[in-house]
Amino acid sequence: MRKYILSFLLLTLIVPVLFAGNPGDKKKKSKHPKNIILLIGDGMGTAQVYAGYTAKKGIMNITGMPVTGFSVTYSANDYITDSGAGGTALSTGVKTKNGSIGVDSSGKPLETILEKAEKSGLSTGLVSTSSITHATPASFIAHTANRSKYSDIALDFLKTDIDVFIGGGYKDFAKRADSLNLIDSLKARGYFIARDLKDVNLKSTDRLAALLADEHMPQISKGRGNMLPDATEMAISILDKNDKGFFIMIEGSQIDWGGHANDAAYIVDEMVDFDNAVGKALEFAKKDGETLVIVTADHETGGFGLIGGSIASGDIQGAFLIKDHTATMVPVFAYGPGSKTFTGVQDNTDIFKKCVKLFGFK
Ligand code: MG
Ligand code: ZN
Repeated sequence: MRKYILSFLLLTLIVPVLFAGNPGDKKKKSKHPKNIILLIGDGMGTAQVYAGYTAKKGIMNITGMPVTGFSVTYSANDYITDSGAGGTALSTGVKTKNGSIGVDSSGKPLETILEKAEKSGLSTGLVSTSSITHATPASFIAHTANRSKYSDIALDFLKTDIDVFIGGGYKDFAKRADSLNLIDSLKARGYFIARDLKDVNLKSTDRLAALLADEHMPQISKGRGNMLPDATEMAISILDKNDKGFFIMIEGSQIDWGGHANDAAYIVDEMVDFDNAVGKALEFAKKDGETLVIVTADHETGGFGLIGGSIASGDIQGAFLIKDHTATMVPVFAYGPGSKTFTGVQDNTDIFKKCVKLFGFK
């Protein structure tokens, strides 16, 4: 009898172990992602995230991500970074001077993760609620020591094989001082040019240049609508046509501008919108199983603090230290294959290095 009890006990121990490899899960659980979706909340510190969390009454996509860390953001020449140097650290793994885009402190061009992905046959994309030529998206595709040379930055879009870009900035392509018409050049290279996302046919579009405003997109409370979550979903579904995988950077640009304006309501509205875009990325990643999603910021803006509020009502009372960026560490959230490597306190340049390693690029 004892023998039977023993073997019964053994079976109950062994059987679950045998079936632990979840037979319903067809996707192989690789540590290496096929796709990386990097979402940057410009100027998004922990108070900005928590303001969004409060406004959403405690139900937030970003704060539901399983892996968390911090990023140290100082630039090559300043304790407090701008979005050019902050973006370049994330896009190239090199700290550069404030104002620089995709170049080192001596002005030498650096290969960005987007360019490395292109070279390796992956599809690539950029989505932004600012002009697509503005510092954060520009850091992934352009090379200049002067971030305000928007017409030069637009030219750099034609020097890569980027598949999808969505944002503002039409005038840097169409209404230029040098009278070049970059819209025609983009068309000649097979891009579908959209001024409205409604005009895009997902099935027939493989290359998309969606320039939805002359300059920056309007702020969410002034008519931008669901552009960022919609653009996120659209860009991902176009890029996912490539079996080799993709890299995309998606920016919630105007969290920063709410900080510069010391406008807590502006920050909250932009945070909620950005979180909805993160939700679209996570929805895809959860279905796909081979996609790493990273959410972080280039720096904090405003020295924003929360001095009152209520999760139940979704209200916050904000306070600010300054109308500029601050030096504080910014949060990092990650989900998917390789996400665990983003835990702890890391340098902003490490985020690039980890992505390159996980992709297996040189
Ligand atoms: Mg930006
Ligand atoms: Zn700023």
